[in-house]
Amino acid sequence: MKKTLFLILAASVVLAACNSPKAADESASPVDKILLKDFNPTVVNNIPVTEVKKAKFPIIDMHSHDYVESAADIEQWCKNMDEVGVLHTAVMHCSWIGRPFEEVVELYAPYKDRFRFWCCFDYSDMSEEGIQKACQLLERYHNELGAVGIGELGDKGEGDLYARPVEGKDIHIDDPRIQPLIRKAGELKMPISIHIAEPYWMYLPMDATNDGLVNAVTWHVDTTNCYGYWKLIESFENAVRENPNTLFIACHYLNMSHDWVRLGEMLDKYPNMYVDIAARVAESAHTPRATREFLIKYQDRVLFGTDNGYELQMYCNIFRVLETNDEHFYIPEYGYHWALSGFNLPDEVLKKIYHDNAERILNEYK
Ligand SMILES: [Zn+2]
Repeated sequence: MKKTLFLILAASVVLAACNSPKAADESASPVDKILLKDFNPTVVNNIPVTEVKKAKFPIIDMHSHDYVESAADIEQWCKNMDEVGVLHTAVMHCSWIGRPFEEVVELYAPYKDRFRFWCCFDYSDMSEEGIQKACQLLERYHNELGAVGIGELGDKGEGDLYARPVEGKDIHIDDPRIQPLIRKAGELKMPISIHIAEPYWMYLPMDATNDGLVNAVTWHVDTTNCYGYWKLIESFENAVRENPNTLFIACHYLNMSHDWVRLGEMLDKYPNMYVDIAARVAESAHTPRATREFLIKYQDRVLFGTDNGYELQMYCNIFRVLETNDEHFYIPEYGYHWALSGFNLPDEVLKKIYHDNAERILNEYK
């Protein structure tokens, strides 16, 4: 009896609420008007805000590109590297700028102690004979022009998108035609740096359930006529497994920062696989505890990279996330609506990620 009375009372309260002027006016609520893309909150918490202007340990940047126009730009880049503590930087010439490799080496020659050059595979003739010639070209780039590695290769589904001088449409990393090139890279001790896929949410429906929606709409990948996310991961895994003597660096955490467990399993399985952290601060610093755990566990297999120009603030943003215990801060230029927190990595882990792992690879692979 008591229960029935309670239900009647509760129902009246609900009805009263529905009929109230407030409910009728609900469409006028600010929440109904603010678009997610315009969400730009100000943090009000009285919590530490740490500015890290220089990295705690010297850095080897294993992921950058030919961003400059002139020698003066390179000089500025070197100054910035000095200021933030970067010893030397990988210039991967397979960038959208597309300057030929020879020209890159020539332009940077006066500063060559500050840069390491990475070249690309030549896919202009995919016949057996053509690939043999591409192997010879790779050897020449390595022996005569000082290329230390290959990359950045990239496949978001359609094939190697950074390939020069021709596009690498339908050329995936496990394509039987390019395996001689991958073996050659191993023989020459040139690591292959490759960008596989994009963060997982770029492949999910662009709707209200998509966690990374604000950024995902920009980088959404239409997989109607090409490989999807897991097929790409499989193609990468095939190449790594079939080429144990070639070292692979999966850029951007293999775009698998949503699943540290699975990424860790791959690292456990394949000693010839590394990951770099380039341009994935926002994709990892919204889950700081899980990311920290991953970075500590795989501290010998992670490389520092930037992939984002050479502005001072760009470097400092990364240092803040890796080094501090700051929490709940926004870096709007990363394009997500969520807040970030620092990893507060132990010194010995920072040293390895910033420097030692890269130095080991570059020395072993000289
Ligand atoms: Zn890149």
